[in-house]
Amino acid sequence: MTEIIDGKIVAEDVVETVKRFTAELAEKHGVQPGLAVVIVGEDPASQVYVSSKGKKAKECGFLSVQHTLPAETSEADLLKLIGDLNADPTIHGILVQLPLPDHIDSGKVIQAIAPQKDVDGFSFVNVGKLGTGEIDSAFVPCTPAGSMLLIERVRGKDLSGLNAVVVGRSNIVGKPMANLLLAANCTVTIAHSRTKDLPALARTADILVAAVGRPEMIKGDWVKPGATVIDVGINRIPAPEKGEGKSRLVGDVEFDSAHKAAGAITPVPGGVGPMTIAMLMANTLVSASRAAGVEPPAF
Ligand code: NAP
Repeated sequence: MTEIIDGKIVAEDVVETVKRFTAELAEKHGVQPGLAVVIVGEDPASQVYVSSKGKKAKECGFLSVQHTLPAETSEADLLKLIGDLNADPTIHGILVQLPLPDHIDSGKVIQAIAPQKDVDGFSFVNVGKLGTGEIDSAFVPCTPAGSMLLIERVRGKDLSGLNAVVVGRSNIVGKPMANLLLAANCTVTIAHSRTKDLPALARTADILVAAVGRPEMIKGDWVKPGATVIDVGINRIPAPEKGEGKSRLVGDVEFDSAHKAAGAITPVPGGVGPMTIAMLMANTLVSASRAAGVEPPAF
């Protein structure tokens, strides 16, 4: 029987832990975690993401602050806001919603966030900590951190002796995912668009992570029997069967065929997706705990 890994349940567990520790932090130390989300412009998808992050932060008992800036905001003004948030003791996590308008250098803005408030884990300090194995004091990007929790639920924390293949080498998903798997003692291969014979490589994977952005690219006969398959991809494709102009979400893995071979697999939606926002809450709580000198909970 193939296990369908339910990301909603694991994400709820994470959020429940966050809520419990947030209440404790307030009661025993008088500290309320604060998350500031900054959005520039009116990209509708970004607006949806930002509002769901704010809603979840409030649900967790956080101070939730949203800065909505007009699309024509200058880079200097945005950097000034980041500086103010860095200095604000009520804010423990700062998130800048990407993409930013073209006239703003996203890299410069992201690197302006104080590493101890960089709950997205994109600053060079946090990337370097993850790369050198200093994971306990780092902030790990939320999607790979959440994917790792799902893998641990199936395989445990020590992945010694297992082969992992991560398809995709982005800074947001592929590379940090590979570093997490390496830290858990997997033998890790990172594949990308220039990889030769990807199906054969994928078939060597006990743990196969797909972070490509290509609908249903990874087929069932690429999956080693019994493998754990983590599908990070979120792709919207036309669904004429649901009616004219309708669409549906699919992952980077062809679920129906891969499901037959896998030992455990994440669905899309309902797999990795809910984990990302839950891990953002976890990172913010960890940041607030560190600022208060309190041992953060383990997730
Ligand atoms: P990205 O920055 O576009 O990176 C895609 C990676 O896939 C690149 O490394 C690219 O290789 C590789 N690739 C593209 N075509 C390939 C092919 N034919 N064979 C092998 N590798 C190929 O994407 P991303 O930001 O990592 O996101 C990946 C997917 O995850 C997207 O579907 C995205 O929507 C989803 N996502 C989901 C969440 C979530 O919350 N669940 C969060 C973030 C992203 P090259 O480097 O050689 O170009």
